[in-house]
Amino acid sequence: MNKNDLKLSFEFFPAKDSAAEEKTWASLKKLENFNPQFFSVTFGAGGGERLKSDSFVKKINKDSLVPVAGHLTCVDMSKDEINDLALGWFEKGVNKIVALRGDVREKNKQYVPHPNGYQNAADMCLGLKKLANFEIAVGGYPEIHPDSKNKQDDTDHLKRKVDAGADKIITQYFFDKDVFLRYRDSVVAAGINIPIIPGIMPISNFKKVKNFSAMCGASIPDWIASEFSGLDDTPEVQQLVGASLASDLVKKLKKEEVNEFHFYTLNKYELTFAVCSRLLSLQNNLNQNNQTKGEARA
Ligand SMILES: Cc1cc2nc3c(=O)[nH]c(=O)nc-3n(C[C@H](O)[C@H](O)[C@H](O)COP(=O)(O)OP(=O)(O)OC[C@H]3O[C@@H](n4cnc5c(N)ncnc54)[C@H](O)[C@@H]3O)c2cc1C
Repeated sequence: MNKNDLKLSFEFFPAKDSAAEEKTWASLKKLENFNPQFFSVTFGAGGGERLKSDSFVKKINKDSLVPVAGHLTCVDMSKDEINDLALGWFEKGVNKIVALRGDVREKNKQYVPHPNGYQNAADMCLGLKKLANFEIAVGGYPEIHPDSKNKQDDTDHLKRKVDAGADKIITQYFFDKDVFLRYRDSVVAAGINIPIIPGIMPISNFKKVKNFSAMCGASIPDWIASEFSGLDDTPEVQQLVGASLASDLVKKLKKEEVNEFHFYTLNKYELTFAVCSRLLSLQNNLNQNNQTKGEARA
């Protein structure tokens, strides 16, 4: 098994209490088996959430051999506050950041920058790059960000983030491989040549994903919805279906030469583990076929 042919990363959010923390940590430990490029920790703007993100980033940095990337958002924070957090991580050896604008917490309210804050993710990227040698990932939106006027506007803004020094793009999740492939083509056509890593969300609870998708602009194809129809009362069956659909998606992408994947784990290892195991098995088969072809030629 050659795990290095695939680059995997796994996203977690800070757990809400100590029982959840234990479960989250156990999941993270399981996913270490895949020798990921990094674990990432999401960021909540509220004071308490901020502290939880900070301490989870520091815990992973201390207690796991896998590098950690801390997410940061611009919401409700001054530049100084963000810079202090980022530098605190850097001093402990954490140089990976996922730089994001974030959203306001109240429903239907527009994002307004903090008076002394970064305006958006591009601005944050520029500021952090001046501060220290951070490796920065930014968000990308295969189905355009809900605040973008149109596709061109969305691409222009992505370009601003890349021009500000972003090193890679991690996408919002999507369920149709063609959505990602079209996005990748359009980003490359716009002259952007940093890695574009698909964000993969294995569905464990269809109703929740459907509600969240409506807010973040990710569409759910009818054929995905119909796979979950009649499964409301059987969560464990939903999970089997979710793992199967996500593994079909990543295998199709792998065949299109996508080798890097970022998983939204929702702090649970089972679905992501199943999907990654199948992905590795596909990778091994491809390696064996290549080796056999090489031997036949020799
Ligand atoms: C990989 C990933 C991880 C995430 N992690 C978190 C997290 O940890 N915590 C959290 O709260 N949220 C997180 N989010 C959600 C994210 O914060 C929201 O999607 C937010 O609405 C946009 O963040 P952004 O960094 O993409 O914003 P930006 O790229 O700064 O802007 C989003 C959009 O706003 C518009 N816009 C912004 N500035 C301009 C400008 N100057 N001119 C024109 N248009 C502009 C554009 O339409 C642009 O696409 C994550 C999203 C992704 C994809």
